[in-house]
Amino acid sequence: MNLHEYQAKEIFARYGIPVPQGQLASSPEQARAAAKQLGGEKFVVKAQVHAGGRGKAGGVKLVEGFDAVEETAKKMLGTQLVTKQTGAEGLPVNSVYVEKPSAIARELYVSAVVDRSKERIVFMASAAGGMDIEEVAEHTPEKLKTIAVHPAAGLQPYQARELGFFMEMSKEQVDQFTKVLSGLYRIFTELDAALVEINPLIITGEGNVVALDAKLNFDSNALYRQKAIAEQRDYSQEDEREREASKYDLNYVTLEGDIGCMVNGAGLAMATMDIVKLHGGKPANFLDVGGGTTAEKVTEAFKLITKSPDVKAIFINIFGGIVRCDLIAEGIITAVKQIGLKIPVVARLQGTNMEKGREMLKASGLKITPVEDLTEAAQTVVALAKSA
Ligand code: GDP
Ligand code: MN
Repeated sequence: MNLHEYQAKEIFARYGIPVPQGQLASSPEQARAAAKQLGGEKFVVKAQVHAGGRGKAGGVKLVEGFDAVEETAKKMLGTQLVTKQTGAEGLPVNSVYVEKPSAIARELYVSAVVDRSKERIVFMASAAGGMDIEEVAEHTPEKLKTIAVHPAAGLQPYQARELGFFMEMSKEQVDQFTKVLSGLYRIFTELDAALVEINPLIITGEGNVVALDAKLNFDSNALYRQKAIAEQRDYSQEDEREREASKYDLNYVTLEGDIGCMVNGAGLAMATMDIVKLHGGKPANFLDVGGGTTAEKVTEAFKLITKSPDVKAIFINIFGGIVRCDLIAEGIITAVKQIGLKIPVVARLQGTNMEKGREMLKASGLKITPVEDLTEAAQTVVALAKSA
């Protein structure tokens, strides 16, 4: 789960990480009032969306005067901001963050993630901040330095100093950076973060270390014990179908193809997408309906898949281990009838009570083609989607 920049900066401030002064606004008038309260002549107006790359996309503007703040907020609010990190339709700008501008002497980069092979939290830092860090990592990896934190010892000051000196900071700046890093480490561990990133971390004109941007991502599996974080979730920034899916405990990810997939088990779901691609098709989604699938879940899954107008055919691939194929068949039939499904369905049911399941599908008189063999099922659904 992601937070907005302004929310992340609030947390930063609580953990002793210096951030510019700012105020949130959800209307142009509020933006003007925010600027007045902050005081001064110049301001930064920043679109609040769950994506980076806003600067290049016109979502970060340096402006002068209250009128300009109001004008800029008016232009940003209510639009969909498309950046390199969003899809083609972009993300809705429902609020802007008005900040006092900082004078930038240098733009640096620092982040932390869990390195699963090392089984440690690792910090990455680079003097090449502000730009695409992926580019830096790919073309000039020597400009990135990584340190791994021992879970029992925690982040050690010498490790922070090592990164600070790597970024050619002065001694005073290294001291400030050490506080920043220890704050980030506490955020990471105390709040169950999955990613913390400051890009850019700047050296101001006066030579101080300040977080100019803030990105926090949290481990969704830990949200049950991070109520204060979970409450700050902004659903407007998330895919509507994925949101709907989480309500029914369905593991769903929207993709760009035209073949809807309904599968039980994450591994089988991956294999199903692979085989669809192998035979020239494109999956419209990843969907794992889970082990203890019920008829109700199958119905909800169908509704989700068919919400996308791009879906031309549906591929059901169920292995009846814990669930019984006849129950699944019942769910499929109910769902197809209930939503008045027009597009073709190919169903492959294997495992417990598979014969009964297949017979039920055949007898239903609906546009459902039962196929036993996986390859044949994939070929059939790809052909159906192409001829649609
Ligand atoms: P992102 O593009 O979504 O990552 O948004 P950032 O918050 O990182 O801002 C993008 C860029 O805008 C930064 O790298 C800076 O170059 C510039 N910027 C943002 N805030 C300020 C500021 O207070 N002063 C100055 N001079 N530039 C800023
Ligand atoms: Mn940034």
